[in-house]
Amino acid sequence: MNILKVDDKGKAACDDCKAFVKTTYLLRDVPFSDQSGVVKNVLVGVCNQCNSVVSLPHQSTPLVKEQLEKQRGILETRVPAHFIDILNLASFELGGSMDFVATLIRYYLHNLANEHLSEKEINHYLTHSLTKGKSQKRLSIKGRHIATDLAKIKELMPITSTSNIIKIIVLKINEDVLLKNNAEKIQFLKSFIAISS
Ligand SMILES: [Zn+2]
Repeated sequence: MNILKVDDKGKAACDDCKAFVKTTYLLRDVPFSDQSGVVKNVLVGVCNQCNSVVSLPHQSTPLVKEQLEKQRGILETRVPAHFIDILNLASFELGGSMDFVATLIRYYLHNLANEHLSEKEINHYLTHSLTKGKSQKRLSIKGRHIATDLAKIKELMPITSTSNIIKIIVLKINEDVLLKNNAEKIQFLKSFIAISS
C-alpha cells in the first residue's frame, strides 16, 4: 500500500467541479455525511480548484471508523445546573445511586423514540419555566443505542437539537418521578433498578 503524506498530489473526481481534478492531500476536519459529527484532522484529498474534500485515502479509514463509533455512542450536551439536580434526585427517589442517572436517561430516550409527542406536548416541555437558565454543566451519557434513538426522535418529531431532547427527557423524569405523576412508571423504574444494580 502506498502511504500518502501531507502535500502529496493525486487525482480524483470532484462533485462540485463536475470534473476529474488534481488534488492535494491535506489534514481537514470532515463532517459525517448525516451531519451527526465531525472527524478531526484526517488526511483527505482536496480539490485544487474548489478546495472541497473529494477523496478519503485508505490509510485514513481506521481513524474515521474509530471516531465515528466513538462519537456515535456518546451523547454530550450542556445543561442548566438544576437539570443535574433533578436527575440525581430522581435517581435517589427511585432508590438508585447517581450511577443510575445514565440508565434513566437511556431508558427515557429509548421510550421517547418509540412514542409520538404532539407539537403541543413538545411545546409544553420546551417552554416550561424549568428549561430556563444558563447551560453550565456537562452531561455525557454513553450507550450503544443512543445515536439511533436520537436520530429516530429527530426524524419523527419536530425537534432538531439534542439539547432540546434532553430538556424534554429531564422534564418528563421530573413529572413522573419527582412530582409523582406516574405511579406505574415509578414502580417499573424501581424494579428496573433492582435488576440492574
Ligand atoms: Zn472541485
